[in-house]
Amino acid sequence: MNTADTGHLAEQFAEIGLVPGVPLADADLAVVVTCAVRQHAEDKAASKIGELALWKRQRLGRAIAVTGCMAAEHGGSLLTRFPAIDYVFDVRDPDGFFARVRDLYAGALEGPVPLPAGDQLCAYVPVIHGCNEMCTYCIVPFVRGRERSRSVGEIVAEVGRLVARGVREVTLLGQNVNSYRDPDSGADLAALMAQVDRVPGLWRQRFLTSHPRNASPRLLDAIRDLPTACEQLHLPVQSGSDACLGRMKREYSVRAYRATLAAARATVPGLALSTDIIVGFCQETEPEFQDTLRLLDEVAFDVVHVQAYSPRPGTAAWRRDDDVPLAEKKHRLQRVLQLQRTISERRNRALVGSAVEVLVEGHGADDGRPYGRTRQGRVTWLESPAAVGDLVTAEVRSATAWQLVAA
Ligand code: SAH
Ligand code: SF4
Repeated sequence: MNTADTGHLAEQFAEIGLVPGVPLADADLAVVVTCAVRQHAEDKAASKIGELALWKRQRLGRAIAVTGCMAAEHGGSLLTRFPAIDYVFDVRDPDGFFARVRDLYAGALEGPVPLPAGDQLCAYVPVIHGCNEMCTYCIVPFVRGRERSRSVGEIVAEVGRLVARGVREVTLLGQNVNSYRDPDSGADLAALMAQVDRVPGLWRQRFLTSHPRNASPRLLDAIRDLPTACEQLHLPVQSGSDACLGRMKREYSVRAYRATLAAARATVPGLALSTDIIVGFCQETEPEFQDTLRLLDEVAFDVVHVQAYSPRPGTAAWRRDDDVPLAEKKHRLQRVLQLQRTISERRNRALVGSAVEVLVEGHGADDGRPYGRTRQGRVTWLESPAAVGDLVTAEVRSATAWQLVAA
């Protein structure tokens, strides 16, 4: 979402005549687009702001702006905590910020500048902002607000503009993307995807992130039936224990989640499945954690993102005891990673000998080998020459837990 926000801010800067994305050494204004989902993300932003304070002192007239989820969380208090910051603005409502910047640099601006040439093949397109769920660990509803869907017309027009600039793959974004509803027609995500599918020149679409509760049969049918829809579903489960899911207020049972995955696999041949796990949530016992390991073992996801629970101010869980010691959280995290490494490796190795479709996104810095991703999202290195933007069908020759090699 921050990548998408950054792209959108770049467009707005270009519109008022500032050149976005220049190297920091040449820049007058730095904008930090922050994340607040875990304390670690906030710490990273804080250290970046520290580095930028030095950058600012190196030349007169430089300024620092901070936006994103930390700005929504802390607001103007950031200006006191980090005196080097000049602006804090809400990424959902940046008009006031742009008006100030425009006024400030008015004498030096000569109207819109072109955006950097479109070397972008894959783009993120937010389709729904905010989240109406209230998972007890999560800060997102507080910093991103309630759900607001954009209209199908607006989204399709944006995808059309992106394709005209060379984009071939879009990822439709939302914190709870499958609760998308067109504000006028009530069209759901499956209906939106059908419209996006008709944009000429678009080769692939994906969507991120879905709530397990809303993974409807219509959506699964859309993944199977639409030529551009990639066979990939990211469905965060967070825990394999019903008791833990209850404390997290996830509003589904492990059994229901399993049934959703079974339906997804039965509907979409070759579907890649991924998930998110939080280890060490409040009162997570060893047997509860083992339930998570058991689920991972049974389901055999292709990819698992695992995080240690990080208490977030203002959330319901913030008031609970963060009682799993850090060392134990780290240990559980390692156990998940270890298990998943063998599962991912097994699943990728099973692909050796089969054909994959790769959209070439770049070339390795060391050996110049082309790489890209398959429809299922697997990073794949190609052994024969190919140009960025090529859509290549190749046979998988070897595989590790993280990537494929094809020729
Ligand atoms: N809307 C998505 C996820 C949004 S946040 C969903 O429903 O799952 C992205 C991921 O960050 C989550 O899936 C979760 O695994 C992780 N996360 C969110 N809050 C967290 C916290 N307080 N501590 C650790 N991980 C967290
Ligand atoms: Fe956070 Fe996702 Fe739950 Fe929304 S559905 S509160 S974004 S974890």
